[in-house]
Amino acid sequence: MFEVVKSDSKAYRVDHFPDVCPQCHHAIEPKYEMTRELGFLQSHVEKRIDVFFSCPRQSCRASFIAFYTVPPGVSSQLAIYDLDSVAPQMSKIPTLPDRVSSLSPSFVEIYSQADVAEQSNLDQICGCGYRKALEFLIKDFACHYHPAQIETIRGATLATVIRNHIDERSIKTRAELASWLGNDETHYVRKWSDKDLNDLKALLELTVAAVNHHLLADHYQSEMKPV
Ligand SMILES: [Zn+2]
Repeated sequence: MFEVVKSDSKAYRVDHFPDVCPQCHHAIEPKYEMTRELGFLQSHVEKRIDVFFSCPRQSCRASFIAFYTVPPGVSSQLAIYDLDSVAPQMSKIPTLPDRVSSLSPSFVEIYSQADVAEQSNLDQICGCGYRKALEFLIKDFACHYHPAQIETIRGATLATVIRNHIDERSIKTRAELASWLGNDETHYVRKWSDKDLNDLKALLELTVAAVNHHLLADHYQSEMKPV
């Protein structure tokens, strides 16, 4: 299966049209607008075409570009171009628990940017973003429960804060595992070569859940004193 798009001089086969709008994030069948060849402009992107679309949804109507490239080793004459990425990506606020978002707005912002980087296939930097998001979440959590030590916590390494300023066992364990994989995203050599970005995201999700459970339990324990 493939779709055909046309520039002034040629027709191209592409594997599929984007099925999610990068601006409103709804599932769509995009409206095809035009195709631009880049081969004659820049030789190093000879096998790339940019295809312009718009979102058909009444409340969005955003224009966006899908970038298609030829799979390695295939003649560009015969190729079915692969959809590589879509831009511009509008930051989609991930669904995070309200209590966690209130505790650490910076975590939400950094996490959202890492998510956009991942959706844009920026796989070499989104992991660093998730690692940074983890640090903000853990430090904001630690500062919330240890207000007298805010300056110490802010200046300490993530590992130190997890070890010394996180009392809750489930958060401590999960955050520690997430930080090990997060560090792998920033270091030259990976220590956990059988783990990848999905594992880091799973551990981050578990950490968020543990933080949320703790905040929720804390809320009820402080509100419902014995009568
Ligand atoms: Zn849209």
